[in-house]
Amino acid sequence: MADYDVIIAGGGLAGTITAQAISHYTNQNAKILVVDRNSAMLPGRKSLSGWVCGDACSKEAVDFMTERIKVEWTRPEIEHDVKGVMAFSPDKETAIPFDGAGYMLNRQKLPEIQNERCQKMGIDFEFEKNLSGLIYEGQQVVGVQGTDAKTSEPFKKTAKLVIDATGVASMLRNGLKNSTKVEKRIDRRDLESTGRYIMYFEPGQKELSEFDPDYCIIHLDQDIAPGGYGWVFPKADNKVNIGLGVEKSLLERRNKRLGKKDNVESLMKEYLERNTVIKNPTLSQDPEDINNNTGIFQVSVRRQNDCMVSAGYMMVGDSAWMPKPIDAGGIGPALIAGTILGNNVAQALEANDVSEAGLWQYNLDFIKEYGYKTAGLELFRRLVQQMTNEQISYGMKHFLGNMDVESISKGEHPDFSGLGKLGMIIRGAMNKTVADGLRYTSKENQWLVEHYNNYPKDPSGFDEWNKTLHGRMDAAFAKVEAFGK
Ligand SMILES: Cc1cc2nc3c(=O)[nH]c(=O)nc-3n(C[C@H](O)[C@H](O)[C@H](O)COP(=O)(O)OP(=O)(O)OC[C@H]3O[C@@H](n4cnc5c(N)ncnc54)[C@H](O)[C@@H]3O)c2cc1C
Repeated sequence: MADYDVIIAGGGLAGTITAQAISHYTNQNAKILVVDRNSAMLPGRKSLSGWVCGDACSKEAVDFMTERIKVEWTRPEIEHDVKGVMAFSPDKETAIPFDGAGYMLNRQKLPEIQNERCQKMGIDFEFEKNLSGLIYEGQQVVGVQGTDAKTSEPFKKTAKLVIDATGVASMLRNGLKNSTKVEKRIDRRDLESTGRYIMYFEPGQKELSEFDPDYCIIHLDQDIAPGGYGWVFPKADNKVNIGLGVEKSLLERRNKRLGKKDNVESLMKEYLERNTVIKNPTLSQDPEDINNNTGIFQVSVRRQNDCMVSAGYMMVGDSAWMPKPIDAGGIGPALIAGTILGNNVAQALEANDVSEAGLWQYNLDFIKEYGYKTAGLELFRRLVQQMTNEQISYGMKHFLGNMDVESISKGEHPDFSGLGKLGMIIRGAMNKTVADGLRYTSKENQWLVEHYNNYPKDPSGFDEWNKTLHGRMDAAFAKVEAFGK
């Protein structure tokens, strides 16, 4: 007999939400274990440099979780309320709002509170266990293995089902042996190298495009943050999470273009220094930030893994590459996926079927709720990454209609219907290239959303579906790359 019904590998944000969701949907009847490499004193820490994150999360995603699994987030895990996110064009002449109202979280405090809640629900924890892989019986995953960090003894636990929530670098996924459908590795260009500071400061001159206590600010700029963006997210009137993300090959291209040798760290420093509102900043020494006030980590910006289950195995959060391709927001999809997964697991346990086919519904449910739009956004992100500052500024100013802004605010691909309007005058070759690119990605997006709506109802149709997806995506990537030449 297995030690547990479910083992959740990784007790970070996604792992603990998923544990609570499984407990909720099984009426606390499932035996659940969460395993993490951190000590009980530093739960949910991503790496030695801390809980590196922008800390922003939409209220809509939190409500999705709360309404379904009855877990409420309050203070102190929520540090500050915001009215939305505002993305500024490189020339700062256009700002588009997206994501609606939201919260700034305290990522160090959140897992402490999450773990207390989990333990009250009867969920077990194993801390300081470095997981290195899965245990198999034939083609079925039946547990996890690794090393006890304190004793260096081997660690092994068995379960009917293992949920992989070990984050973007997941060793469990990379070494998965019982599936040809689950993707194991990521394209280097789908990873952003990102870093940030959590700081107190003396407010300088008021300039709402530099710091706004009510809005999370995003700066698109290929010189400041090539292939990514800079952010200034408020944690109080005099406290900020400020950082940026870059795509490495585009950073190299930018360095060459400008004759510079910048890296993420130097770009972060420059970005902080150029801010006119943030005067005399100092890293937060608050107890709830002290292990987390500066750091660099990676985040993926592509669609979720094409298949997120195999026999006895499911993935959630960053291990499944869930952060949204255009803004790297991974908390929202982790909340949504963790909640959905809880229901899928309860049904699979009830039906006593943890085969690939028995877990398949999770792929469909996540796509229906969130995953239908991510491939189109991945393509859109690749297009924007190829654009110059002038092109981005022009596109944001002239080609975004009200409907497009609304789509973006809902996290969906805009359809740039205004571009098709008779009489729209597009001056200059550069702007025609931008218009063509936007028209192209919006057309492809429609196809991709449709294709995801036809995601196979069971594993048998997957290979055909996936081949068609890859054929279309590869052609689209090549075309989009050509826009930057
Ligand atoms: C700089 C930066 C800024 C970001 N900003 C935002 C933002 O503002 N808003 C937003 O929504 N998203 C943001 N994201 C993304 C967001 O932080 C992630 O999507 C989120 O943390 C994912 O949670 P997770 O639980 O899936 O993974 P993680 O938070 O990485 O947690 C994984 C857990 O598994 C444990 N673990 C890993 N490997 C092992 C192992 N081998 N054995 C045992 N345990 C293991 C880890 O220690 C950790 O506890 C940002 C990311 C970065 C890097």
